[in-house]
Amino acid sequence: MPVLARVSVRSVERLSPSFARIELVGDDLADFGTDGPTLDQRIKLMFPASPGVLPELSHDWYTDWLALPEEERPRMRTYTIRSIEESAPSTSSGHRIEKRLYVDFVLHPGAHGPGSDWAGVAKPGDEILVAGPKIGEEYGGTEWIPGDASRLLLVGDETAVPAVVSILESLPADATGSAFLEVPVAGDVQEVSAPAGMDVTWLPREGAPVGGPAVAAVGGLLGFEVKPDDVTSVEVVDPDLWETPVYSSSGETFAAEDGSANGAAGGGDDEDGRYAWIAGESRMVTALRRHLVNELEMPRKQVAFMGYWREGVSMKG
Ligand SMILES: Cc1cc2nc3c(=O)[nH]c(=O)nc-3n(C[C@H](O)[C@H](O)[C@H](O)COP(=O)(O)OP(=O)(O)OC[C@H]3O[C@@H](n4cnc5c(N)ncnc54)[C@H](O)[C@@H]3O)c2cc1C
Repeated sequence: MPVLARVSVRSVERLSPSFARIELVGDDLADFGTDGPTLDQRIKLMFPASPGVLPELSHDWYTDWLALPEEERPRMRTYTIRSIEESAPSTSSGHRIEKRLYVDFVLHPGAHGPGSDWAGVAKPGDEILVAGPKIGEEYGGTEWIPGDASRLLLVGDETAVPAVVSILESLPADATGSAFLEVPVAGDVQEVSAPAGMDVTWLPREGAPVGGPAVAAVGGLLGFEVKPDDVTSVEVVDPDLWETPVYSSSGETFAAEDGSANGAAGGGDDEDGRYAWIAGESRMVTALRRHLVNELEMPRKQVAFMGYWREGVSMKG
């Protein structure tokens, strides 16, 4: 059973022009968390439909949420755990360990949405609901499955920066590969802790079309030809683009060596050792999918493509 927590803002740190890091606290977070590194662990955040009004939801929260009249339903969006920290236990009796959940929000004031709008004005005491993993229980919600891949490729735009940075922090010291992080402006570049064998490249967009710099950079690395309209010409975007070794939003399957529909994820030595994790705006992800799977014929079990948001579309519930 996932944790459903009512949390309040303790602090807001404006990291850069496009990012706000929000610290969330609440007693309901006591059992919240993952057993290992949080990686790209996704969570659901629910923002008040009208200022300050949040319903009581039971642990069967999704059923309760659906049952609410639409105008009262908190607005739900998907985010990533940036980190969870715990206070040191006090020696005095009766003191509970306090957990703090950190989420890095992209602010996109030009395109209004409940998530970005809430984060843009959040202040201590403001409340939201969080649904996410419980310590010690299976939850899912991560897609980073590199297996024994020896050459890693991570590509993300600003919405995937929290996931990519968390994954980089968790890698073993001998990991090798490349990470490309496309962000709106140069001021959004962050310090990253990554193994020496991982080349981390930040790609400030500075007004270029979303996804253009990332597709060009991956083309340079893998040697495919990039056309100026590679991303902007993508017309048909799978509404819920999600293609991973174990799930396909289009229903596509692929045969594993043992004949089952889905084989083990990750790139072993027999498959050139490469594993790619790609997340961000859906056109960017679709353009990269075309290059990697259709053109370079990268096996599906070695790639995870995830549309985290779509330009001009609200990612309702
Ligand atoms: C697994 C997963 C993990 C994610 N993790 C994070 C995370 O940690 N931090 C984070 O900020 N986002 C994250 N996202 C992306 C986030 O869910 C979307 O950006 C979402 O659309 C934000 O909701 P909103 O209410 O701000 O905008 P919406 O109501 O969904 O959309 C309103 C308008 O805003 C535009 N818009 C949405 N996102 C952006 C953007 N980034 N830049 C410019 N315009 C935008 C839309 O195109 C639309 O026109 C994640 C998504 C997924 C699927």
